[in-house]
Amino acid sequence: MQIGFIGLGNMGAAMAANLVRAHHDVAVWNRSADKARPLVEAGAVLAANAGAVAAGRDIVFSMLADDSALQDVLSGDDGLLAGLRAGALHVSMSTISVSTAEQLAADHRTHGQRFLCAPVFGRPEAAAAAKLFVVASGDAKDLQVASPLLGAMSQRVFYVGEAPSAASLVKLCGNFMILSAIEALGEAMALAEKGGIAKKQLLEVLTGTLFDSPIYRNYGAMLVEGRFRPAGFAAPLGLKDMRLVGQSAESLRVPMPLLSVLRDHMLQTIAQEGEDIDWSAIARSIAKNAGL
Ligand code: NAP
Repeated sequence: MQIGFIGLGNMGAAMAANLVRAHHDVAVWNRSADKARPLVEAGAVLAANAGAVAAGRDIVFSMLADDSALQDVLSGDDGLLAGLRAGALHVSMSTISVSTAEQLAADHRTHGQRFLCAPVFGRPEAAAAAKLFVVASGDAKDLQVASPLLGAMSQRVFYVGEAPSAASLVKLCGNFMILSAIEALGEAMALAEKGGIAKKQLLEVLTGTLFDSPIYRNYGAMLVEGRFRPAGFAAPLGLKDMRLVGQSAESLRVPMPLLSVLRDHMLQTIAQEGEDIDWSAIARSIAKNAGL
């Protein structure tokens, strides 16, 4: 199958590399062309723009920062909508809003093209190891077509229904819960540390008893080591996700008081630490608030 891949950031570069490694014919494009170099050296073909990536391809994956990056890549004479042939499939793997997922599906339908929404759980290390979890929604037949390729990038694919936005909503729920867990860990660690207990020791007890999950283990280790740079998941993207959760909460009329705390701590962290820090650094802001 002829594949296109758009967006070679922290996640996309690692995901596209797995497709190249699996000996697929992959054309790539990234706004900053230098990020494509390692992939081209590994065998991918560099396209001149998003439309050219799609030309003659059966399936195009996109992994971009946010809704507006995706809109930029889709639109214009050299955009994805113009370049993708009728009947070809676009698989959007970015974390995007529910409304943008619906809009994308409608735009592709208008052009006679297919669309799957397939955001992922897992950080760049998981992407590099092909250990992502994919949450997909859209037409089940399209998922069947994409499945072998999603399998080359992930350890499991969940199908959550036909509505294109369903996968977006599930992904946003998940990220709300991840940041809630980091917030809880950060507060508990600040409390323990101020009381004279090492963060490492607290984490050992928590993950060795009732909190033995990858989120607590992996983020816990980052918090203990203060490993917030370089950012695997940059804080501004985390803030974007909390904004998207808020949009869905507002339109569905779901009060989420914890979300307001998380959003404020995310903002505080970016204001204090800069744009290039990992979102888990909210724990640092929490510690500073405690006078640590
Ligand atoms: P990233 O490293 O910041 O990469 C963002 C990508 O989007 C880059 O390729 C960037 O191009 C491109 N981009 C941004 N604005 C653009 C525009 N206006 N036009 C064209 N391209 C544009 O982000 P990431 O960490 O890979 O995340 C990508 C997506 O995956 C996001 O939706 C994020 O929420 C989601 N996600 C991330 C993680 C994680 O742990 N990092 C985990 C799960 C899901 P340039 O290189 O030119 O800037």
